[in-house]
Amino acid sequence: MRGFNRILLKLSGESLMGDGQFGIDPETVSRLAEEVKAAKDDGNEICLVIGGGNIFRGMAGAAKGMDRAQADYMGMLATVMNALAMQNALEQLGVGTRVQSAIEMDQVCEPVIRRRALRHLEKGRIVIFAAGVGSPYFTTDSGAALRAAEMQCDALFKGTSVDGVYDDDPKKNPKAVRFDTVGYDQVLSDNLKVMDASAVALCRDNDIPIVVFSIRERGNLAKVLAGEGIATIVRHKETN
Ligand code: UDP
Repeated sequence: MRGFNRILLKLSGESLMGDGQFGIDPETVSRLAEEVKAAKDDGNEICLVIGGGNIFRGMAGAAKGMDRAQADYMGMLATVMNALAMQNALEQLGVGTRVQSAIEMDQVCEPVIRRRALRHLEKGRIVIFAAGVGSPYFTTDSGAALRAAEMQCDALFKGTSVDGVYDDDPKKNPKAVRFDTVGYDQVLSDNLKVMDASAVALCRDNDIPIVVFSIRERGNLAKVLAGEGIATIVRHKETN
């Protein structure tokens, strides 16, 4: 798996909660920031996308009668809070970062400007992309796939609570089998839980491998980047 230089790391909002049920746990964010710093210190250029599910999800609001688009905008704002929390934790470790938001808010962060983001990477900064794609009816998974494509990342690393992609839900079915590699088309046709379909399709169409791994285990990101940890790679089947 070695050989990825520039990666996009997608973390769910829930990964920031720690053992809590909601919101941001500063200790957990610091721990994640240390992992990201270690990956950077190993020579990787890193773009980050963080979800917002620890604070608000549009679908949850819509299920309770809210207007979906309005609820989605709230979800996007949640991702900006998470991005600022991660920026704070990284800068406390001495790592230069910039947050770029798909919804402009000049007082707190930069707007998404691709060329400027590329320059930040050249200067050794980590770029945190907030507010997903900036439109309702999308998720931060789609935001991650989009930024991975436009920033020409070698791979999209998706840190989750499980150690890869299974043929069934491993939390419910103890006999579920984990894939080492799986094709984009199988993920889509079998509706495997990786990312939402539009995000998987965008990665497929732009030939961006998706590396699914557990971010809960300390030190795992660096291990997976070194080709040592447990993960599933989603890619074109013929290269299996
Ligand atoms: N969202 C959106 N458009 C985007 C990205 C996010 O509308 O491009 C909203 C959507 O409501 C979503 C919420 O922001 O539920 C939080 O993002 P997501 O659910 O992807 O977070 P995660 O599950 O990764 O924590």
